[in-house]
Amino acid sequence: MITVDEALAIISEACAPGVPERISLREGFHRVLAREIRSDVDWPPFDTSAMDGYAVRLADVTVAGAALSERPGLVAAGDRPAAPLAPGEAVRVMTGAPVPDGTEAVVPVEEIHQEAGRIVTRYVPRSSEHLRRRGESVAAGSVLLPEGRRLTPADVALTALAGADPLEVHRRPRVSIAVTGNELVPSAGKPGPGQLRDSNGPMLLSLCRGGGWCAAARPVVRDEEGAVRDLFAEAGREEDVLITSGGVSAGDLDLLPEQAERSGFEVLFHRVAIRPGKPIAFGRRGKTLWFGLPGNPVSTSVCFHVFVRHALDSLEGAQPPGPRFVPARLSRDISIRGRRETYRDALMETVDSENRVAALASRGSHDLAAHARANALIRIPADAEHLTAGTLVECLIL
Ligand code: AMP
Ligand code: MG
Repeated sequence: MITVDEALAIISEACAPGVPERISLREGFHRVLAREIRSDVDWPPFDTSAMDGYAVRLADVTVAGAALSERPGLVAAGDRPAAPLAPGEAVRVMTGAPVPDGTEAVVPVEEIHQEAGRIVTRYVPRSSEHLRRRGESVAAGSVLLPEGRRLTPADVALTALAGADPLEVHRRPRVSIAVTGNELVPSAGKPGPGQLRDSNGPMLLSLCRGGGWCAAARPVVRDEEGAVRDLFAEAGREEDVLITSGGVSAGDLDLLPEQAERSGFEVLFHRVAIRPGKPIAFGRRGKTLWFGLPGNPVSTSVCFHVFVRHALDSLEGAQPPGPRFVPARLSRDISIRGRRETYRDALMETVDSENRVAALASRGSHDLAAHARANALIRIPADAEHLTAGTLVECLIL
């Protein structure tokens, strides 16, 4: 049986990004940059007031109670820059306004009182107080975001500031989801004897959506050779990646790996030393990829986070491809069973700027209720003997 790292290497090898496309920045959220973003402007674009107040020169306000003559009128955001400050003069400026040349600080309006044609400051401002200097955040020509970055909402804003609209992104993989099992009824249905509701389908759709991928749901596939054959025969028409749940274990009705091979898929791996999720299969036919995830819901979820995310990120050119881990200190001992890399449902919190994590009680890979309470998965290496409280572990954020 191969290790998780070996499986990830096989996935990386099979998943190269496709050709870039140009899209409107409005559609940029969650997309992956195919080219770095450089700014064509300084940010801020000009020296700007951060407060409603008065633009002053430091030499004119060396003591609290200094009086300055007030220039009539005011400068608001969007106004052209006003004439330079003259000695002894204060100019009323609004937040976001370009300040006159010579401004060394802005005294907030709350910190002055007005007398006929004059203002009197209540304190001595520091140099550049309440001033935003041109280019202090971004210098024109600098790289704001690297190629391979998956855009957050703040990244989209930064990209807009840089004027990169339209922008070049990698094509998104098309994903479809098929759940398998004779026992499944739709979530809106009422299970009869021996039946249960499909929870993996809605979960996989949500996992995809959470990562920025739009997935299509295929009809439920029965545990019958013909139905499974039809699924694989059609695979690749509307998707780059077919994700299935169920039917990959060693039972008599676990038909998928064999039928995938019969339909021309090369099964690149089947079974990985991971808990939960050992029966996972991964195959390829031409450009079409198939992930056969085990049916137990927690296994399905863990396999998505660890393997499918890595594939979808790689196909989209996201750097570095997931999963992403953060360090955390165990707040309770963990007992370890067996010699497979293990992912345990856990609750992580940050206390005094340190991540602390504790495993949740779980009945096993069917315990969706425990999984839903978790906000992280603790990764336990295959060779771990015993993990005591205080040990530093890696956690995958859910
Ligand atoms: P399988 O991998 O097909 O052997 O399924 C393993 C377990 O997961 C069985 O108890 C199934 O009933 C359950 N299961 C399979 N598919 C789903 C699904 N879509 N939603 C909820 N449970 C499922
Ligand atoms: Mg099944």
